[in-house]
Amino acid sequence: MDSEQLREYGHRMVDFIADYYKTIETFPVLSQVQPGYLHNLLPDSAPDQPETVEQVLDDVKTKILPGITHWQSPTFYAYYPSNSSVAGFLGEMLSAGLGIVGFSWVTSPAATELEMIVLDWLAKLLNLPEQFLSKGNGGGVIQGSASEAILVVMIGAREKVLRRVGKNALGKLVVYSSDQTHSALQKACQIAGIHPENCRVLKADSSTNYALRPELLQEAVSKDIEAGLIPFFLCGNVGTTSSTAVDPLAALGNIAKRNEIWFHVDAAYAGSACICPEYRQYIDGVETADSFNMNAHKWFLTNFDCSLLWVKDQYVLTEALSTNPEFLKNKASQANLVVDYKDWQIPLGRRFRLFKFLQEHLHIYNILRLCSCLYLNRSLKLWMVLRLYGAETLKSYIRNHIKLAKDLEQLVSQDPNFEVVTPRIFSLVCFRILPVDNDEKECNDRNRNLLDAVNSSGKLFLSHTALSGKIVLRCAIGAPLTEERHVKETWKVIQEEASRLLGK
Ligand SMILES: *Cc1c(COP(=O)(O)O)cnc(C)c1O
Repeated sequence: MDSEQLREYGHRMVDFIADYYKTIETFPVLSQVQPGYLHNLLPDSAPDQPETVEQVLDDVKTKILPGITHWQSPTFYAYYPSNSSVAGFLGEMLSAGLGIVGFSWVTSPAATELEMIVLDWLAKLLNLPEQFLSKGNGGGVIQGSASEAILVVMIGAREKVLRRVGKNALGKLVVYSSDQTHSALQKACQIAGIHPENCRVLKADSSTNYALRPELLQEAVSKDIEAGLIPFFLCGNVGTTSSTAVDPLAALGNIAKRNEIWFHVDAAYAGSACICPEYRQYIDGVETADSFNMNAHKWFLTNFDCSLLWVKDQYVLTEALSTNPEFLKNKASQANLVVDYKDWQIPLGRRFRLFKFLQEHLHIYNILRLCSCLYLNRSLKLWMVLRLYGAETLKSYIRNHIKLAKDLEQLVSQDPNFEVVTPRIFSLVCFRILPVDNDEKECNDRNRNLLDAVNSSGKLFLSHTALSGKIVLRCAIGAPLTEERHVKETWKVIQEEASRLLGK
């Protein structure tokens, strides 16, 4: 690799990607290949001799792209968006470039400080309480995913409560959430060793638009205390994955506080919208939370992965997650200005091994710098996004998607064959074909068929969920390229397929 080769190939790759974006609407949004398709197209073993970039890019065009589901397509509406952007792309590119020269580590102190600054910026945009800023005991850290963020705070909270009640009480710890909470919480419980019978999944239904009722939480907590159990962790939602339900944070948080329960707020998708003053109300009550997460890689123009986590007390994380606490505490206090982010997250094997390996070769300060540099990648691209777009552009970006969703909600509600199942709050519209003669089972089948039909048309990609036993289609608007015309055309495709299924 020399710099001229990088320049030449890099330009060609950028051209390739730019052309991809130019023609992205010509591909079926959901990949239509069958399992194992690639096996028949590629050789059985690696080439002995180097091939050219042209050969590889040719293969990407003819063999790989058919197996791609186009997440950046303007008519990708499944799950939640996973934004890519020019700024995010440039950030990724820069970090890849610095990664190649990375072992001089002169930019390492910048990596840690940049992450702290950028997360403070965003905390201010979200108007998070001061305690989440890095100037006191709190601060933000970039994780790979919301799942990691939730696990990390749960482990911190677990260690905190066990210090209070004694190490042997693990089997008594109880976790609370609504049944609309992301499965990431269940996974966190499994990994954190919470007894499966101590996971209270409280029912939320259409009467509250799938928000958790505080009375239900209070009741469950009281019952558990009476039974000698120890309530310790509550996960509240702002924008559930199924239907963007928003839990009443202040009421839940007060119950948590009274009972010394750690309160985490998961706003993985909807957090982005809360930088707009008119949507900030949805995280009102976040001041009662101990921790808060949102994914910049969903709806904030930052390429995957970039999941933001804020805590009021960073020491809860470092006490629980330091792999070598005494040793690191000593050195960190000597260095004084070093935040060692590796103690704010799950120690992954690769990182741990890297650490062990390098311990034998490098001075401790280099190791600390190396650990923090692993994060440069993510803070750089978020920094790029914030700088190249600015807060006002990001706000109009969010508002535009929400307006498009509002328009779609209107179109759906005007069609007598359809219903909007839960009121739209952000940019997700949950809808379905209405049952005929109250036949809910047939209705579910019909909605499943509608989903299959529109997705195999290749024109768009929706996903589904189940709400109170109803199969519901989810249209999450949030791809950077989505415009009004796409949403109108999408609705037409859905209506046509529905008419066909209804025999009209
Ligand atoms: C997407 C999502 C998650 C999981 O996010 P990952 O970053 O993929 O782990 C968790 N909670 C909510 C509400 C989500 O929307």
